[in-house]
Amino acid sequence: MTTPHPHPEVPLAPSTVVVAGGRPARAAGAPVNPPLVLSSTYVSQGVPQPGEPLYARMDTETWHPFEEVLADLEGAARPAVAFASGMAAIAAVFSFLPAGGTVVLPRHAYQATLGLTDDLAARIGVRVVRVDAADTDGVVAAVGGADLLLLESPTNPMLEVADLPAVLAAARARGVLTAVDNTFATPLVQRPLALGADLVVHSATKYLAGHSDVVLGAVVAATDDLAERVRAHRTLTGAIPGPVEVWLALRGLRTLALRVERSQASAAVLAGRLAAHPAVAEVRHPSLPSDPGHARATRHMAGYGSIIGMRPHGGPAAADAVVAAVRLWVPATSLGGVESTLERRRRYATESPTVPEDLLRLSVGIEDVEDLWRDLDRALRAG
Ligand SMILES: *Cc1c(COP(=O)(O)O)cnc(C)c1O
Repeated sequence: MTTPHPHPEVPLAPSTVVVAGGRPARAAGAPVNPPLVLSSTYVSQGVPQPGEPLYARMDTETWHPFEEVLADLEGAARPAVAFASGMAAIAAVFSFLPAGGTVVLPRHAYQATLGLTDDLAARIGVRVVRVDAADTDGVVAAVGGADLLLLESPTNPMLEVADLPAVLAAARARGVLTAVDNTFATPLVQRPLALGADLVVHSATKYLAGHSDVVLGAVVAATDDLAERVRAHRTLTGAIPGPVEVWLALRGLRTLALRVERSQASAAVLAGRLAAHPAVAEVRHPSLPSDPGHARATRHMAGYGSIIGMRPHGGPAAADAVVAAVRLWVPATSLGGVESTLERRRRYATESPTVPEDLLRLSVGIEDVEDLWRDLDRALRAG
């Protein structure tokens, strides 16, 4: 299963890789799509040969096309390692932390990521240093003596943009392992390995699968050694995805380029209009020239993503009223699906206390942008 390269000297564009990658070898009568294989075990006897399929917790062929295409998109030379969820992938990254070690991560990282570090602190004495991801000097000062730097950029949900090349280089110079959660940007918009990261993690639940019907994660590694360790962690802990989920994720990935292109363009339009709306106090989207992350995102990203942060006038009650008033936008958690969703993040007790109470996180989908705008505008005026 390889991506055909009609001109091997010219790398295929990512928007081609998502379509052409991970298909069965061409032969008369061969299926165009990889088969979904449901088998927990494989015929085997005697001493297993290297690469021989044995048991589906160790490896199963339905994972391979997705793992190869994702690696290709992230610019990795070895396959990605798919996990049961984004959190399972992040737990695999945290398995590199020794007992009593130090992890540096954004104070506005995904709430379950923060929760998992708190758990590691309580159980095995991991020291957790939370930083402002946008404060390059602060991040660089914190990585000295750390074991792991886990970054999100843009952060969930505050959309801070880190200077990834600068902080990743500083960590590397100090021998600190680095990982970037690339869920928000997707590899079409940002390629952390090229910016200097050792590991990339994804909640494939979001944009990669893209249809809100799958929970899935993945880790992409810069070296064979790291990839092998991540893979061994998956086999030992059993944090494996089901073949159906991975098959569906590849199905979703085929349209990633179109979906990202559409939703990013709509997000930029909506962010601009929201910034001028009388019922809106503040908008965060890196596409806005006034956004603190705009210059960095322009330098390091191939777009601005499709997540918007918005604070309506009137506090948390007004934010809840907007969520209650929308009809097309879906009031729901999660993000990165074809349908537009929104939620007030501080409704969770576990959300970081420095996230404003009235912050709405909007995930822009692929509906008609004018329909999305009319619904939002009406809900803001009604609220
Ligand atoms: C959703 C999310 C996760 C967790 O992924 P799951 O698939 O829900 O386990 C991790 N990081 C970010 C940035 C996310 O948005």
